[in-house]
Amino acid sequence: MPAAPPPDTDAAALRARHRQFREDYARLKSLSLSLDMTRGKPSTEQLDLSNRILALPGADYVDDDGTDTRNYGGLDGLPAAKRLFGDILGVAPQHIIVGGNSSLSMMYDALAQACQFGVVDGDRPWSRIAGRKFLCPTPGYDRHFLITEHLGFELIAVEMSRGGPDMDRVESLVAGDDTIKGIWCVPKYSNPDGVCYSRETVRRLAGMKTAAADFRIIWDNAYAEHHLGDHRPTLANIARHCESVGNPNRVLQFASTSKICHPGSGVAALAASTANIAEAKTHIAVKSIGPDKVNQLRLLRLCGDVTALRAHMQKHAALIKPKFDLVLKILQRELGNLNIAQWSKPQGGYFINLNTADGQAKRVVQLADEAGVKLTAAGATYPYGKDPRDRNIRIAPTFPPLPDLEQATEVLTACVKLAASE
Ligand code: PLP
Repeated sequence: MPAAPPPDTDAAALRARHRQFREDYARLKSLSLSLDMTRGKPSTEQLDLSNRILALPGADYVDDDGTDTRNYGGLDGLPAAKRLFGDILGVAPQHIIVGGNSSLSMMYDALAQACQFGVVDGDRPWSRIAGRKFLCPTPGYDRHFLITEHLGFELIAVEMSRGGPDMDRVESLVAGDDTIKGIWCVPKYSNPDGVCYSRETVRRLAGMKTAAADFRIIWDNAYAEHHLGDHRPTLANIARHCESVGNPNRVLQFASTSKICHPGSGVAALAASTANIAEAKTHIAVKSIGPDKVNQLRLLRLCGDVTALRAHMQKHAALIKPKFDLVLKILQRELGNLNIAQWSKPQGGYFINLNTADGQAKRVVQLADEAGVKLTAAGATYPYGKDPRDRNIRIAPTFPPLPDLEQATEVLTACVKLAASE
């Protein structure tokens, strides 16, 4: 939601309060704070929820199917881990490959392999396609954009709406250009704007006509289980939609337990069609003799099935919801009546998305930095780090303790007010 530029009367009122805003900012700056709201990391207390995993599996390293997890083998993961991720992503276990600790690495591998070898339905490696392009819903996840930039794609920004990317634009772009090879999607509690893709968006993505026969949707369902409260939007099943319209190979789904257990030693997975899974296995079989199955077993012993995993996620919600509530309360108290910014009120995920008036995000981030509060760089949520309207700021409330978060948000709102009144 863009912040409308303040009407003239509001602008005059803001300028009249400039001195007060400058004094408020100076007072906060004099506190010599050193606070960090940059990356969406779990807090120490959240990590502690999974500490039991550090002692698992102990001497009990044979899984329920009789596999000695210490040894080589099991290229696509332990059967119970495949069932778990199948339940999270809404597919049968045979459509899952369980990998290492990072879903981002699996996404990188999938796209790097597409560039080097091509994909099912394609006629050549993507690296041979001059001017290859990738669609980037914005604001979005900087590391997604970086992967496709690194692999030589031109990045095309598509604005997000309330129900996902602007589908009229997506459909018209992909129908007319066979060098557009795919789209990044964070379909549930998207990073950073917390959007859940509507049923209509999922239907259109699955069924749209693409000039590229080998077009791919990178469906990064990183926040599938990361609800803040009891209101849980339902995400339509993209694999089923793709299958039903005859595009079974179009979607590659990803998830991980990075923000469920310990990010440094989580477990990641890919879900895809039979043909895509078979192809992915040909690459994995060359790259590795098998994944870290001991780590998969540790996860299964901590939360063995999706019901236990969901109970575990409620403990995360109990720790982080007060943080989201605090930031939202301060944003409303400090900015609610000023008509100079708008923000998301997410029902899950890891971020609050703040839009200042056009042209002010960089200034706000700079002012905050000078007052000792590090924010995600303005522009980071756009391809090439360039927000054309310079208004988007990603707030990551999960990591700092509540008192730090309170101070940091007060600094942030003071900076928004000062920048708007300058
Ligand atoms: N995908 C999204 C949308 C994220 O926000 C993040 C981390 O912030 C990741 C992926 C990273 O996932 P992983 O730790 O599994 O590589």
